[in-house]
Amino acid sequence: MGTPFSKLLELAGGVRKGRQLKAVIPGGSSTPILPGSIMMDCTMDYDSIAKAGSMLGSGALIVLDDSRCMVKSLQRLSYFYMHESCGQCTPCREGTGWMYRVVERIENGQGRPSDMDLLDNVAEDIMGRTICALGDAAAMPVRAMLKHFRPEFEYHIEHKTCMVPAYV
Ligand code: SF4
Repeated sequence: MGTPFSKLLELAGGVRKGRQLKAVIPGGSSTPILPGSIMMDCTMDYDSIAKAGSMLGSGALIVLDDSRCMVKSLQRLSYFYMHESCGQCTPCREGTGWMYRVVERIENGQGRPSDMDLLDNVAEDIMGRTICALGDAAAMPVRAMLKHFRPEFEYHIEHKTCMVPAYV
């Protein structure tokens, strides 16, 4: 607690050789993703991460370098939350599946220009309307990805391919 994120990253060995820090999920997969540039100014404490727009959550850091596609990353996260939904309440049961399918079609080059607003609306409609916290946990990554990495989603939809070169 209180360690600068930059120091923690250095202690962990940093990003892979030749790569740049792109983004960080600071507190486990449900917490809002932040651009690396924002995280480099943060310390690992509740107030600092909250001020930056995310949460310390479980403290399970996920660091993404510039070889990572944010659409693909969100597809994986959304699949996880769809799989984890127990189905007890409608917004989570239906919404997690909707979000996954929309992100999947964007990833597969079949996205529509209206999909980003659709995703954001579905995520907003889930938040605060479920029995347990999994609904919010599924929605927060979607909203944060669109907030910080919207151009990647737009590129996928417009060009039907990824703007991030394939990692070799
Ligand atoms: S929010 Fe919780 S209780 Fe409701 S369907 Fe999702 S996992 Fe089940």
